[in-house]
Amino acid sequence: MDRNWLNERLLTEADRTENVVVVFEHKLLKCDVTRGVLTFIVKGNETNVNADIIIGADGVYSQVRSGLMRAVKYISCIT
Ligand SMILES: Cc1cc2nc3c(=O)[nH]c(=O)nc-3n(C[C@H](O)[C@H](O)[C@H](O)COP(=O)(O)OP(=O)(O)OC[C@H]3O[C@@H](n4cnc5c(N)ncnc54)[C@H](O)[C@@H]3O)c2cc1C
Repeated sequence: MDRNWLNERLLTEADRTENVVVVFEHKLLKCDVTRGVLTFIVKGNETNVNADIIIGADGVYSQVRSGLMRAVKYISCIT
């Protein structure tokens, strides 16, 4: 399957969907799953975003996965 085609289709469908906001050039720096806070680098500045639900889809070096692993380690330390 052509990846460009797939990416374009997914972006188009997401863009058409109500309540979906697509943003670019937001690099996820840190993901605090315990507090639901995502830290992004946007144009060289750090920006925090609060989230009720976080879905990790940031690939093989996922910051979301790192955040989850930190939280699981912390929970297993305090229990
Ligand atoms: C050379 C190559 C060939 C492949 N060929 C095939 C194939 O033929 N068939 C197949 O099934 N699989 C193939 N794969 C594997 C496939 O590409 C991956 O399994 C798949 O892309 C993983 O999807 P994903 O959505 O988890 O991550 P990705 O497709 O990697 O998407 C992650 C997204 O998150 C973004 N991102 C990453 N880090 C951050 C960050 N810190 N902040 C913000 N955004 C971020 C990236 O820019 C990207 O848009 C191939 C992989 C490679 C490298």
